[in-house]
Amino acid sequence: MSKKVIIIGGGIAGLTTGCYLQKSGFDTEIFESQATPGGLCTSWKRGEYTVDGCLHWLVGSSPDDPLYHLWKELIPIDRIRFYYYEEFFRVRDESGKEIIAYTNLDRLQKELLEKAPGDKKRIHEFVKGVRKLENFPMRFDKAPELATNLDKLRDGINYFPYFSLLIRYSRMRIADFAGRCKNPLLQKFFHYSFAPEMPMLFIMMTFSWLDKRVAGYPIGGSLEFSRLFEKKYTELGGKIHYNARVEEILTENTGKRSRAGGIRLENGTEHHADITVSAADGYSTIFKMLGGRYADKRVHRYFNKFSVFPSFIQVSLGINKDLRGLPSTVAFPLDKPFQVDPEKQIDNLYYRIINFDPTLAPEGKTLVSCMVHTYNYKYWQDLRESDYPRYKREKKRVADFVTDQLDRELKGIKDKIEMTDVCTPATIIRYTGNWKGSFEGWMVTRETGFNSLPKQLPHLDDFYMAGHWVQPGGGIPAVFYSGRNLAQVLVKRYGFREFQ
Ligand SMILES: Cc1cc2nc3c(=O)[nH]c(=O)nc-3n(C[C@H](O)[C@H](O)[C@H](O)COP(=O)(O)OP(=O)(O)OC[C@H]3O[C@@H](n4cnc5c(N)ncnc54)[C@H](O)[C@@H]3O)c2cc1C
Repeated sequence: MSKKVIIIGGGIAGLTTGCYLQKSGFDTEIFESQATPGGLCTSWKRGEYTVDGCLHWLVGSSPDDPLYHLWKELIPIDRIRFYYYEEFFRVRDESGKEIIAYTNLDRLQKELLEKAPGDKKRIHEFVKGVRKLENFPMRFDKAPELATNLDKLRDGINYFPYFSLLIRYSRMRIADFAGRCKNPLLQKFFHYSFAPEMPMLFIMMTFSWLDKRVAGYPIGGSLEFSRLFEKKYTELGGKIHYNARVEEILTENTGKRSRAGGIRLENGTEHHADITVSAADGYSTIFKMLGGRYADKRVHRYFNKFSVFPSFIQVSLGINKDLRGLPSTVAFPLDKPFQVDPEKQIDNLYYRIINFDPTLAPEGKTLVSCMVHTYNYKYWQDLRESDYPRYKREKKRVADFVTDQLDRELKGIKDKIEMTDVCTPATIIRYTGNWKGSFEGWMVTRETGFNSLPKQLPHLDDFYMAGHWVQPGGGIPAVFYSGRNLAQVLVKRYGFREFQ
């Protein structure tokens, strides 16, 4: 007897859960509020250009990484062309001095020592940690919920040589490490690597993946990548309903507990199932679709105390000029601070010339994008709702500022701009529903740790969650194994065949 599973959300987490459940004989349907798959992992057409809204790099792009072999279970990763950065980004200070974040660790070490010789001790400490993590035996094959005592013992033995490193750098914030460096440019280098409140371990892991060349950028961009999952899911017999926004998760009382029995869509239709999975935004799932009825103290603590990744404003420009050969990602100082919104002022700007993906712009033309993080999602959301003409003017004001800065930086591109696209926190919320317009869900901090949060809610049976609201740190690999892990748990719990 098969079991019917409804999955809310056709992002990477929902699609992955759906694929693995189909493989094991469940009968699944995905309900996605938008018209395309991928959720945050998306791109959109603007004239001749494709604006990319997500992927900068994908961990597991090479067979030397264990994740590659899991991607292969669902998508033809061996047929994706990956671009490997020689330099990840560069930061420049007011005097014009730069640090280049080479992806090759030997080159990076040389660069850092040359530019910040007074911080030799810190640089050696950083490089030593990155090098050690290159051999870290990361295991993704089995859901932690299903780990046996033997698995735990084996992990304990394998991880033992790394314990002190993992503990030290998962407790130390990037800002703390940067603060211990004397050289201001080196401090800026660490600040620009990731959000300063994240653990230092994150940046060390990233540089270890970059050095090993197992984290490339997939040519074709984010929507193309998401479509590979959509294709696999439908080939496996899954059904996706697009433009299908779920308003409520249906529950019924079964004595002291309740069970989830399906969903009600915005258009009023009801769909029933044996199991309901939400791979959509965590806050909307728990407090809107379930009306907050299954949120205990622990769940409230997450939403009151945990930090989320910020939202952002992205200005993308389609430029009728070949910008090949220029450094692709640069953070540079502004002459004077710029007020992005009432809470966010910037004194540096970061731009990305996507001159390594020929599919996003026609021959001889280039897509350039600038991203500014902000936690002030409410300002943008309220403005869009209350005063749409002013919202549009504000978008234009930010776009004009970025255009002026890039015109100086890239030497006369203003008259070659053919396309301008601005996406704000209101756009992220409108298209993906992510709480506070966050681009990656829960941030990994000392409170969250790196482990997954429970995928079930108290007193509610036959209901599960997947995605970056149960897997702190987010990112495509994390939501992929969150969906894969959940499928393993369901296979075991409901007695289905294990997937290959
Ligand atoms: C600018 C940016 C850059 C990034 N860069 C990278 C990167 O380089 N590498 C990397 O690994 N990760 C990156 N990420 C992070 C990554 O994209 C996310 O962590 C991941 O895509 C989240 O997947 P998800 O399936 O958990 O959630 P989502 O992508 O948010 O999917 C949830 C889905 O649920 C749908 N939904 C929501 N509410 C409802 C409802 N009521 N009814 C029906 N459907 C609903 C949404 O429309 C959406 O499709 C980036 C993200 C952004 C925004």
